[in-house]
Amino acid sequence: MRVTVHLACAECQERNYTSRKNKKNNPDRLEVKKYCSRCKSHTQHKETK
Ligand SMILES: [Zn+2]
Repeated sequence: MRVTVHLACAECQERNYTSRKNKKNNPDRLEVKKYCSRCKSHTQHKETK
């Protein structure tokens, strides 16, 4: 059930991180606040495929 997901910056859509999650435990879209090198600040990052 573990899948690899990309985390994309909500501001510029840059994919800065990859993460693994358990689809069974986290069926919803992941949202994490992380540093974006393009925005040069912490922004919300959302799961993409
Ligand atoms: Zn960004």
